[in-house]
Amino acid sequence: MSNQKPTYDPARIEPERQAAWEQRGEYSAPPRPEPGQLPVYVKASSPFTSGNLHMGHVRDYSIGDSYARFHRARGDAVLMGFGFDAFGLPAELAAIERGELTADWVAECGARMLLQMKRLGFSFDYDRVFYSSDESFYGWSQWLFLTLLEMDMIYRDDATVDWCDTCQTTLATIQVEDGTCWRCHNEVRLIRRPTWFLRIKPYLEENDANTGELRNWNDLALATQHYILGRSEGVELELEGSGGALTVFTPHREFAGRASFVLLSPRHPDVDAWLADAEVREQLEQMRSGGWERSARDAKSVPLFDTGATVTGADGIDLPVLVSPLVDARFGPTAALGIPLVDEADRELAARAERVAGFEPPAEGEDPAPAPAPGARAAKRYRANDFSISRQRSWGTPIPVIHCERCGVLPVPKEDLPVVLPRDLVPTGEGNPLAERPDFVDVACPSCGGEAKRETDTLDCHFDALFLWVPAAVPPADRAEQMFTHPELQDWLPAERLVAGGDSGGFVFDQRIVTKALRDHGEFAFMEQGEPFAGCLFHEMVIADGRKMSKHLGNVVNPDELVDQYGADTVRLAVLYAAGPAKTLNWSDGAVRFANRFLRGFWTYAHDRFAQLPELAHDPEAAADTEHMRDRLRKWCDNGLERITADTAELQMHKAIRNITRLLERIQDFEKRVVKRRGQLDRADAEAQAAALVLLAQVLMPFAPHAGEQILLASGRPDATELAGRWPGEAEIPVQPQGATAS
Ligand SMILES: [Zn+2]
Ligand SMILES: [Zn+2]
Repeated sequence: MSNQKPTYDPARIEPERQAAWEQRGEYSAPPRPEPGQLPVYVKASSPFTSGNLHMGHVRDYSIGDSYARFHRARGDAVLMGFGFDAFGLPAELAAIERGELTADWVAECGARMLLQMKRLGFSFDYDRVFYSSDESFYGWSQWLFLTLLEMDMIYRDDATVDWCDTCQTTLATIQVEDGTCWRCHNEVRLIRRPTWFLRIKPYLEENDANTGELRNWNDLALATQHYILGRSEGVELELEGSGGALTVFTPHREFAGRASFVLLSPRHPDVDAWLADAEVREQLEQMRSGGWERSARDAKSVPLFDTGATVTGADGIDLPVLVSPLVDARFGPTAALGIPLVDEADRELAARAERVAGFEPPAEGEDPAPAPAPGARAAKRYRANDFSISRQRSWGTPIPVIHCERCGVLPVPKEDLPVVLPRDLVPTGEGNPLAERPDFVDVACPSCGGEAKRETDTLDCHFDALFLWVPAAVPPADRAEQMFTHPELQDWLPAERLVAGGDSGGFVFDQRIVTKALRDHGEFAFMEQGEPFAGCLFHEMVIADGRKMSKHLGNVVNPDELVDQYGADTVRLAVLYAAGPAKTLNWSDGAVRFANRFLRGFWTYAHDRFAQLPELAHDPEAAADTEHMRDRLRKWCDNGLERITADTAELQMHKAIRNITRLLERIQDFEKRVVKRRGQLDRADAEAQAAALVLLAQVLMPFAPHAGEQILLASGRPDATELAGRWPGEAEIPVQPQGATAS
């Protein structure tokens, strides 16, 4: 029996439990899953090394951690892996602000965040933690770059790219929010410069087909994949015109014979054939270097010009050929039929183009008559497009190519990897300091041996993220040599579950593309579907006062302060309970107070009951009179356990916790009823109740592990530690009293 005073003091018990877990090595993934053991790799999101966990991380890791603990308790082989997305602009800018070397700043931030995570009791395998800025990691980013280059999935093109003057770098389209930089929120402008791109087209169709087969993905996760893909179903047909043959697409199958014009993407591979004269070519050039990406979704303001060329439509009428990036925003870099008769956006464009003859809108209340085009065949288009992967910043993976005046752009031979990033670069915020380092830049050409220069652009951290889910599955000592070939990869991949924020859809989409590429290249041949995540849970973000948390609004909730005030278990429970994963969590003190009240209540109640148990006598007659009540308690426990098990397996942690709180109410209700009937508990009643409280502590373990384990220890059960690590198969509520004789 525990002699501790039953005061709930998380500041005392939580560090004690954490030390015990660390000593028992409970978080370490097993060397390999035993035969017949289910491997469960839980991949949590990889944060930037910002130096502070925010509430979104706490939500993410509380979900992933309770899922991992649940599976461990069920006897599965669990790998709870973790790594930092350590390269990139945020770290570099923070280092500039503090006048530190970026490498030092990242190391400090990572160490601080790991402490925060340990303090919250997250059961990551901390021996496997990695930083994407480690040489053993980014050497493989370079290998991946060269491999994809060989596969023609990476190319260099002179492109119009978004450029932020403040951050002095190009931005990917997804990093531009309403025409402003995602990082500094200053206005972005477009410039032309040579840029490296990842080609995603070869695997779009497969990503699309597989998305329908992803069984353990929640709706939010699937919705992001469908949105990014942007598939349109319709028909395509061949038209002839002054520029030759042109395949045109329309989603309006039934009206393909009623087109008024053809709209060509400025990125269409054959666009040049349709430019009648120098003036029109100039217009295309202007469009390409203009600011169209940001207005490309609005048909009223999107750039538009007329090529002067025509094609013959399905109904024999000549259709003017127009060019506009609106095609890209809707269907990708293709050609589409403009059918103002049935298409709102096309109507807006038609009104802006002189050569488009006024069409007859259908009379009020009348549906236009269908006119399918003869020869049209079923077709689809994807909006998803290649993305730029190079940046002009120094805190990133050096792109492994060499520029030689005689030989051109050459890949660094793979045996010369990694191209090491100097760790002592002092970022200034202006330009790229890598370009100022002759010891980095000057190199012998791998082909002619003459003087050559290294590429000074680095890879965007979006590129590193393409395989951020891999290293945790490789023992740290083997990562430098066997990142993509280690035999243990086959034990853990695909990951049983990715738990990530709802804004990770782009990362995940591209991770799925690259997995397929590496499957075809051989390394990931064992993942036949080319899918890195068998299951995926996307959750919404955490806001406060109905608004996104931001320093600017002064509504940032600091997890450290909450842990100081209430303890880690309360914070975890509150975050999990306050909203289901698909809902935005509007943070309120109510959730913390509720969670804290529950934990205190359960703690005190359980300690009191465990303490009074030895004092109680057994009277067979009294026990017989309350037997039906114990039966009912057993049923409540069985039902509760069944529900909590199902909820947790489905990552519906808010439901599991609600069922845990209900079960405590039932256990308390049992006591009230017995006391009402008999005046007091018999020993048999008290033992049944204690067993129910033990069960409750066991199922609380994944969510509030410190309090759960401490309550189990207080039960006086000799197997308390074992119980803490085991998920109950059924409610073990004794039928007869075990330790007492009749008085
Ligand atoms: Zn910026
Ligand atoms: Zn050369």
